[in-house]
Amino acid sequence: MIPLSWPETNRRLERAAALLNDDRPAPAPAGPCHLGIDLGTADVVFMALDARGEPVSCFLEWTEVVRDGVVVDFAGAVEVARRLLRRTEERLGLSFRRASTSYPPGTDPKLSTYILDRLGLEVAGLADEPSCVARLLELERTAVVDVGGGTTGTAVVRGGRVVFSGDLPTGGRHITLVLAGHYGIPPEEAELRKRTGDPAEILRLARPTLERMCEIVAGHIRGHDVRELLLTGGTCCLPGVDRVFAEVLGLPVRLPGQPLLLTPLAIAALGLAAG
Ligand code: ATP
Repeated sequence: MIPLSWPETNRRLERAAALLNDDRPAPAPAGPCHLGIDLGTADVVFMALDARGEPVSCFLEWTEVVRDGVVVDFAGAVEVARRLLRRTEERLGLSFRRASTSYPPGTDPKLSTYILDRLGLEVAGLADEPSCVARLLELERTAVVDVGGGTTGTAVVRGGRVVFSGDLPTGGRHITLVLAGHYGIPPEEAELRKRTGDPAEILRLARPTLERMCEIVAGHIRGHDVRELLLTGGTCCLPGVDRVFAEVLGLPVRLPGQPLLLTPLAIAALGLAAG
């Protein structure tokens, strides 16, 4: 069942997007469910998969409990996670004893596993974020590039194995700050403008920051035989990001239909692989 094909991955991502923050009770899933918890700098996502790996719930809260891979507000993180766990359990009519989680490359995994501990959940699966994506998909000589809220992370995959991973602090938050400065508006308003403003203008203003992200990736992949880039992370929702990476790095780029949900899907699928 794993690794998944690219069309099948995209189909599951669309399914997860259709379920986003849907609290309506779902029919009882057949077989055991697998829960994935993604604690990011911009949002926390809980995604549950049924025994076949089909998304059955997906809850997301925008929050700032993590910064550069470090949980800066532990009590806040636990509170958000408790709320999302309750919503997941109420929707599915079951209670979870285990979950999978992740962390940015080079940071301490305990920061995420402490939160599971506080929720009374055992760790079913644990891997750094790009490695989760590398395990989900069939990849060869590919750099998985995760552009999240706070950082840009790269994992180079060869023969289905991650041979290098790195993470540096430039992410979507930096684009938001550029927009805030340009328009003379507070960051919260700039965050909204980033998603709803004129895409061509936003891309033009974001371009220098995106080029900085490309430089980070160029540094990460230097010396590795990389044939394609796979983009993931919420910042890749910005229309045209794939074109900038392709132009600057001169490599073919794959972009999923729902870049914000690929890492959460891959984290939840760790439990599936673990059985
Ligand atoms: P990190 O990986 O740095 O820990 P994270 O996991 O919280 O952060 P993601 O959830 O992958 O990061 O992405 C969050 C970022 O995606 C935020 O900066 C947010 O502004 C950006 N983002 C989300 N949706 C969109 C959109 N439609 N257009 C542009 N940016 C978006």
